[in-house]
Amino acid sequence: MLSWDKTPALATIRQCRAWVEIDLQALQHNVQQLTQHIGPSTTLMAVVKADAYGHGAIAIADAALAAGAGWLGVATVPEGVELREAGITAPIMIMGAINSPEEVAAIARWRLQPTLVSPKQALVFSAALATGSSEVLPVHLKIDTGMSRLGFPWQQAAEFVQFVQRLPRLQIHSVYSHLATADDPNPTVMRQQHQRYEAVLAQVAAQNVTLPKRHLANSAATMTDPTLHYDMVRVGLALYGLYPAEHLRSQLALRPVMQVKARITHLKEIQPGTGVSYGHTFVAERPMQIAVVGIGYADGVPRALSNRIEVLVQGQRARQIGSITMDQLMIDVTHIPHLQEGSVVTLLGQDGEQEIGADHWATLTHTISWEILCGFKHRLPRITTALSIPPLSPSESSEWRDRP
Ligand SMILES: *Cc1c(COP(=O)(O)O)cnc(C)c1O
Repeated sequence: MLSWDKTPALATIRQCRAWVEIDLQALQHNVQQLTQHIGPSTTLMAVVKADAYGHGAIAIADAALAAGAGWLGVATVPEGVELREAGITAPIMIMGAINSPEEVAAIARWRLQPTLVSPKQALVFSAALATGSSEVLPVHLKIDTGMSRLGFPWQQAAEFVQFVQRLPRLQIHSVYSHLATADDPNPTVMRQQHQRYEAVLAQVAAQNVTLPKRHLANSAATMTDPTLHYDMVRVGLALYGLYPAEHLRSQLALRPVMQVKARITHLKEIQPGTGVSYGHTFVAERPMQIAVVGIGYADGVPRALSNRIEVLVQGQRARQIGSITMDQLMIDVTHIPHLQEGSVVTLLGQDGEQEIGADHWATLTHTISWEILCGFKHRLPRITTALSIPPLSPSESSEWRDRP
């Protein structure tokens, strides 16, 4: 994979076209908000799957752990290995299902902690571990209480727990479940799942099994109801400063971690009647100054937003016009003086008084903020606040700097 940090030839051109800025101070602020909210008896698992929702898993994991998170959650074995290879020693739980002995070997080798969803899967683990060292692997049993995704049926949780208990190489570290509707203002389904999870815990307790951890809550549940916190909460979206639903905005003061920026690459004047971009879905009605911006749908700006969004330029809003293309899009800057090639455009984030959030794009494209964040491709370098950005060389900087 392209590594902007490790390739010297690329390191100096990270911010010449388009990039993602990651504010680790905002991340740490959000972690602190969350740890204060859950209190000292509940652990915060920072969910950093999918490259930390597109933010860059290693930098986010390091910063979240430093700010008070205790565990990390990932979806796949390679995601866990990436964190271990970066030197991270905190407990890492894998939330996806694992069915191959090769994955089990990697889990043992890298001290990752898997989710088990069935007795059959537990047997795969048991068999694969039998040939290795005699170490015991901590495992997390997932129970389906109503999500109908991963997990053993809640009615049979007791049998599942008993079965895994008898396998010598596996040690049950948690029994957990996942909520399907925690972001819905109507709590009916969530309450039913909560009751089922309580019934599961009662069955487990009746067998004299003590669990180091019980956990049920995602971001929305963490913000909604303290009785859902148990010993640990698995928080993704809120870490990154977005709210799972509008009605949860009042709960915590979160700050967005990601900003998406690009530079103006070309400026031009067009006359009335001139069409812009593929299909001429925009036609100028008056003389206009337009700017080409070096970012497109191959970077993660959904093409469905064509003609529907605004961007921020020098603290002002400018509307996007014409179809968004693979690598470029156009904006109307008729009202903004003194722009030049190299001026910075904020697609998501803050510029002066103005702010545009991923949730806005999500609403416009009938999707969720999670998908918008995960959509930004690795073509965009991730610039974290912890990194010092090498300045552009003097000849470049005079051309590329914004005018004051
Ligand atoms: C992704 C995921 C989470 C985090 O969800 P958010 O809504 O982003 O907080 C928690 N638990 C499981 C099982 C997940 O897959």
